[in-house]
Amino acid sequence: MQNFEIHPDAMLRLSLLEGQARAFLVESTQLVERARSIHNLSRTATAALGRTLTMTSILGAMLKGKDESVTVRVEGNGPAGMIMAVGRPDGTVKGFMAHPGADVPRRGEKLDVGALVGREGTLTVIKDLRLKEPYVGQVPLQSGEIGEDFALYFTSSEQTPSLVSVGVLVAEKVVSAGALVIQLMPGASESAIMSIENSAGMFMDISKTLANDHLEGTCEQLLTHLQPELLEKLPVAYHCGCSRKKVEKLLMQLGEKELEDMIREQGGAQVDCHFCNTRRNFTAEELRALIKRINDKKNESQKTE
Ligand code: ZN
Repeated sequence: MQNFEIHPDAMLRLSLLEGQARAFLVESTQLVERARSIHNLSRTATAALGRTLTMTSILGAMLKGKDESVTVRVEGNGPAGMIMAVGRPDGTVKGFMAHPGADVPRRGEKLDVGALVGREGTLTVIKDLRLKEPYVGQVPLQSGEIGEDFALYFTSSEQTPSLVSVGVLVAEKVVSAGALVIQLMPGASESAIMSIENSAGMFMDISKTLANDHLEGTCEQLLTHLQPELLEKLPVAYHCGCSRKKVEKLLMQLGEKELEDMIREQGGAQVDCHFCNTRRNFTAEELRALIKRINDKKNESQKTE
């Protein structure tokens, strides 16, 4: 029996074992379904991009300043091609993959995400912390299954031992999606480490647990023995945020000469946003108006000099 009730996506930020560990538990079903329908993803691609987006929502929630952002790039040697996702501290994410229609046969009952992504390649995390230089961390892919790859990233690039479980259950549409990340805090006791390691087995099928029990129920079922304390609940959602105005600004940054070339060679411009799959057309007339704005600005700044 399918459960058609819609549960809004959200993330719980939790403290475990009196502060010896922290956890992020996210239900991302609607978000991944949105990505599936925007990009027309194959089943395995839904799982691959969905897992990446879900993990990126957690990395976004780990940021502090509201203007910060995190970009995740998964570059494996499989048919998916590059996967990219961007997350923000407000819980919004967006992403795309190079070959959204690519698919591979199942491995037993499971979607073979590792085969689609490729088992060799890199996972790169770029954090724009509004400093001069972005933070960049990169690890080799472990399996291309995304979860293990992020676990290695946290442990080796961020030096934070982490347990990661991420999953997407997909039929015609996304049935459920989500992730659980548990991180040990510095100074965690031997017994705290043991109780987390001993529970790793029950965390593995996170998308199935979320399908049955949703966020609060899953938290209760999986984490009660680790004395969870809720620090924050925040919404998560797929959101692009692009607009015609922003594209106009980008075109103007290209400069007068570039725009004139576009008018001469193509009679206008076509700008695609890969994140929300929107195409925006600019006629020659509209490009000329942008050139005029560039020149007006130039004259304006000369006047003030
Ligand atoms: Zn967009």
